[in-house]
Amino acid sequence: MINPKTKLLGVIGHPIGHSLSPVMHNSVFRELKLNYVYLAFDVIDLKRTIDGASALGIVGLNVTIPHKIKVMEYLDRLSDEADLVGAVNTIKFESDEKIGFNTDGIGCIRAIEKYGTIKGKKILVLGAGGAARAIVFQCILGGATVSISNRTKKNALNLQSDIKNKLDPNTGVINVINFSTDELKEELMDSDILINATSAGMCPKVDCSPIPKEALQPGLVVMDIVYNPLETRLLRDARDLGCKTIDGIDMLVNQGAESLKIWLGINAPIDLMRKTVKDNLKNI
Ligand code: NAP
Repeated sequence: MINPKTKLLGVIGHPIGHSLSPVMHNSVFRELKLNYVYLAFDVIDLKRTIDGASALGIVGLNVTIPHKIKVMEYLDRLSDEADLVGAVNTIKFESDEKIGFNTDGIGCIRAIEKYGTIKGKKILVLGAGGAARAIVFQCILGGATVSISNRTKKNALNLQSDIKNKLDPNTGVINVINFSTDELKEELMDSDILINATSAGMCPKVDCSPIPKEALQPGLVVMDIVYNPLETRLLRDARDLGCKTIDGIDMLVNQGAESLKIWLGINAPIDLMRKTVKDNLKNI
């Protein structure tokens, strides 16, 4: 029941009409009987939005496309992860400070951890966009060795050089692999985990996969961060071969749970969040 003590959280983006975050977070507040409400805001003017949110006593915001980088200009401080990645997806408003965090990378790692730690593992990440960037940084911080491959090689090389400049060049040695079936197949023979962080396979191009089935190995853990459709062509191919698979909802839910930990200090009910998102996928 909304009353004068109800506190507000939300997500800002443009467009925002298809966001699953409101149903996901509000299901948690209902389940745990927390007096919070979470809304979606379609915003363009970031300065007024951040100042206004702070003035209204909003507890926190998630930030999505296209604001994750620009919003940093209006914050007082960044977490180590947000600073490294160069993007913010979570803001916490404290009485005297606006603090930016990035939970995309840790959300992905938490999802993978259902099959064990990433420490010491060899991971191939496909993609060099915003999501790939957060994931690659977090994999290295988590003690994995990471290779990246991207359709446009220049973007992968830029990410590689950024990481080398920001982190100890000897940690998590970053290799760039050509985006060709033969080279990807060779790389995967020696890898533990494959993460698709490209948008290939996303609705409506559901027959598309970023990597042909013949390049996959049965022993791999295969994660696809695309969540619409829930089972992408890549995950179907991987399941056929007997690989362990992780879908994009697991990352979405875990990054949301990490945001809730930052805002409210709670351990969110992941299973409920997953079910809520899955039930509402058909509406986007
Ligand atoms: P982005 O910054 O636009 O990057 C897109 C990436 O996909 C680039 O590396 C691009 O390569 C590559 N790409 C696009 N189409 C491709 C194709 N047909 N074949 C091969 N590579 C292709 O997007 P993003 O924010 O990183 O998001 C990427 C995907 O992750 C989206 O589908 C998004 O919905 C999903 N995502 C999921 C979660 C989650 O919680 N599950 C969170 C964030 C994002 P080029 O450099 O060659 O253009």
